[in-house]
Amino acid sequence: MNSIPDCVAYPLEQARQCLKQAGLPALITDVTPSDASSPYTQLRVIKQTCAPDGTVHLTVAAFIPQPRAEIAQISLCESPGSGVYVLEIILSSPLELSVGSLGSIDFEPGRYLYVGSAKKGLRARLQRHARREKKLHWHIDYLSATVASTRALVWPWAAGRECRLASELAGVGAVIPRFGASGCACEGHLVRLRNNADDWWEQLTSLPPPLKIVALS
Ligand SMILES: [Zn+2]
Repeated sequence: MNSIPDCVAYPLEQARQCLKQAGLPALITDVTPSDASSPYTQLRVIKQTCAPDGTVHLTVAAFIPQPRAEIAQISLCESPGSGVYVLEIILSSPLELSVGSLGSIDFEPGRYLYVGSAKKGLRARLQRHARREKKLHWHIDYLSATVASTRALVWPWAAGRECRLASELAGVGAVIPRFGASGCACEGHLVRLRNNADDWWEQLTSLPPPLKIVALS
């Protein structure tokens, strides 16, 4: 339940996703007035309670959808000094790669998202991810030395945010086991998105702002 936002009026779809991940049944009551006009279309949760049997009761009402604010696109040299980030890597053909202690991994073509964080030195970290030639130290070095990453989504640094993000992403793709997760209890910090996972962008960019997108190439 921790992954469900505690603010009111968050989108029902977001709640559904969290409950699905947690394996919790939900009972949804729509209290939108029957005379609400047609612009009220986006169902949002306005109250949530949990019954003793684990069923989550969500009371929802329709809101007028708001256009999403433009997300700032910046260059690498404008990158903030700290942050939690998601690195996007697009693999166009199959790749077999030996990744340090993890051994050989078969990477299928697709869109990969890697979660990392830097309390300081974020710009240098992103530069490292963007650079092909480097000493191979972290698991991600092996992949980013072979395939160029295109961009990074950056949120302000906060304790625990990196692993929370990794577990959110596990809901939209297949986790590469233990990749990038040597120092934590996560299943992995690298996810290959499902082919039909077109909700990932919506899901990521709706996480609490401010969010920046750093172009790496
Ligand atoms: Zn983790």
